[in-house]
Amino acid sequence: MRGHEVVVVGTGVLGMAIAVAAADAGLRVALVGPGYSTPGAASPAAGAMLGVLGEHTRADQDMTDLMFRHESALLWPGWLDAIDDHTGIGVPFGQGMVVIANLDHPADRDNLEAIRQAAATLGLPVEELDPRQVPGLRPAPRHAPVAALVCPHEGWINAEALLVALDTTCRGHPGVDRVPGTARSVLVTPDRHAVTGVVLDDNTRVVSESVVLAAGAGTEALLSPLVSLTGSLPAVLAAKGVSLTIEVPESAQPPMVIRTPNRDFACGLHVIPHGRGGLYVGATNRFTTAPATGPTAGEHLSLLHGLLHQFRVDLRTATVKNLRWGNRPASADGAPLIGPCGLPGLLLATGTYRNGILMAPAIAAIITATLLDRPTPLCNPYQPTARPSHPQPNFRQLLIEGAAHMTSVFLNPDGTLPYDRERQLSTTLASLLNLAFADDEDVDLHREQLRAQLAAQPTIEGVCQVFDTWETST
Ligand SMILES: Cc1cc2nc3c(=O)[nH]c(=O)nc-3n(C[C@H](O)[C@H](O)[C@H](O)COP(=O)(O)OP(=O)(O)OC[C@H]3O[C@@H](n4cnc5c(N)ncnc54)[C@H](O)[C@@H]3O)c2cc1C
Repeated sequence: MRGHEVVVVGTGVLGMAIAVAAADAGLRVALVGPGYSTPGAASPAAGAMLGVLGEHTRADQDMTDLMFRHESALLWPGWLDAIDDHTGIGVPFGQGMVVIANLDHPADRDNLEAIRQAAATLGLPVEELDPRQVPGLRPAPRHAPVAALVCPHEGWINAEALLVALDTTCRGHPGVDRVPGTARSVLVTPDRHAVTGVVLDDNTRVVSESVVLAAGAGTEALLSPLVSLTGSLPAVLAAKGVSLTIEVPESAQPPMVIRTPNRDFACGLHVIPHGRGGLYVGATNRFTTAPATGPTAGEHLSLLHGLLHQFRVDLRTATVKNLRWGNRPASADGAPLIGPCGLPGLLLATGTYRNGILMAPAIAAIITATLLDRPTPLCNPYQPTARPSHPQPNFRQLLIEGAAHMTSVFLNPDGTLPYDRERQLSTTLASLLNLAFADDEDVDLHREQLRAQLAAQPTIEGVCQVFDTWETST
């Protein structure tokens, strides 16, 4: 195939958004991919929240991500109008979110406070709500919220409706050639100094001097063989997420998104009113180095347990309409990868993790401007070759936060420990991780003391003593 100014690989929200933006700007685009609903694709499993404040937690010391999410959210109304102009398909867009904190997760209230501060930074209004008055919430008494914050500007859409509209736009756009199939590899010039296109599984060659990899969690398989040409880049990992839709009449759906803050390495528990599409419930999160191949019984249990106890006891007898899952593309350093990399002609648009739907119009605009060699319409802090200068995380703090999440995962669903034992377990886990990972002198000394203590009492009871010393000394 010849005559394309850019080949976009991937038919998820990012690939399609980029193809439309580039074609609207006058470029001739080949859009390569099997379609948006292939098993394991992230986009159709999303709700989707356009989470600016809702995704913020107290662990996010750096405001770069918050600002980028905010700027991305501002593009949405105009972007949806443009899609509507192409297809006449209006994608429903809702606004308003209540973030609740309950006692199921010890960090919820701190994270609510972090959201309140983030709102002040961005000048966005938020409002305290009596947690008993959250509209559309009917939790089991033991799981009732203890605080609630309304974020009236926070948006949401129906990802399925968006994908249908984007797919229709791509298929009808005179500037986009839809090339069904899967890219096997990226082609380079004989001197290996620039890209020349991609080759598909059926050996078709799609030729162009510019290739955008937006293949979600499948990007790594195309990118890693090029490492000697691109230079070292953060790996693109897969973070499997599971969600489902419950049959709930529109009149019984909440008027806005209800969510918890992020929890247990995931985007918190949330419900999104999809009108006649039912009530969307999301989402779990599990990292893997290769795209995972399906949801597990435990993931469904965790989601349904959370929904029925923390949000809506009345849905116990409701019908589950469909189960969804997908691999979120997550970069190893936690930030998206947007723009050119070390190999001329090769651009990346991935690593969006929990926010790829929200960021789609922003990323499409940045990639298109880069292809046209124009200034990007909004600042791109996520260049693949110049990684954001996040302050180096405090190693010990990272382990403490991670151990708290892990403890919460172990207790999920519905596990409780008596007294203060959740904190004790989390502290012990953090100390164990510190001993396993760190190698400074303090750690060596601590290890020696523990060994000596156990050597003095080499019994099962001695192990328990070590635990006690440890827990009380940290
Ligand atoms: C349960 C869940 C809930 C989520 N909730 C939200 C949310 O509320 N808000 C939000 O903003 N984000 C959310 N996300 C994250 C968001 O869905 C992703 O960040 C985003 O969809 C990534 O889009 P993508 O186009 O890069 O990837 P994908 O949607 O995975 O698309 C990649 C496409 O590339 C194709 N492909 C792979 N390899 C190749 C190849 N070699 N050749 C050609 N094509 C290939 C795949 O078939 C796939 O269709 C959620 C994700 C999940 C799983």
